[in-house]
Amino acid sequence: MTLPDGLRKHSFRKWYERELFSSHAHMLLLFLCTIGLLAAMEVYSKSAPALDQVIDVLAVILFTAVGVWSLRRYLYLLMHAERVANQAVCAQCETYGRLSLVDEDPATSQVTVRCKKCEHEWPISH
Ligand SMILES: [Zn+2]
Repeated sequence: MTLPDGLRKHSFRKWYERELFSSHAHMLLLFLCTIGLLAAMEVYSKSAPALDQVIDVLAVILFTAVGVWSLRRYLYLLMHAERVANQAVCAQCETYGRLSLVDEDPATSQVTVRCKKCEHEWPISH
């Protein structure tokens, strides 16, 4: 979910929570791929039938590809959430994360938000 959609439908804190949850779900997928990769490498044997060897090699390739993708996705989602969270502090009253969406500019990937406590407005890049 994009930041403007998250601010429109829920709140900043819910959006942030969902980003972190999604990020860590990808980390769990990475962990499972690592287990699958190690299991596929463990069962590989040169004395096994050729079809079993091919299946093992395909499993290694699949687990590696999905694992690399999930690692990249995990890091992207985590860094994106942290980058936005670092901008979610009101400069006027120092309230964290209590903001509402005022305007969005898809061309610059920037949203203008308003503090729910003091009505101060500022841009957030996402
Ligand atoms: Zn404020």
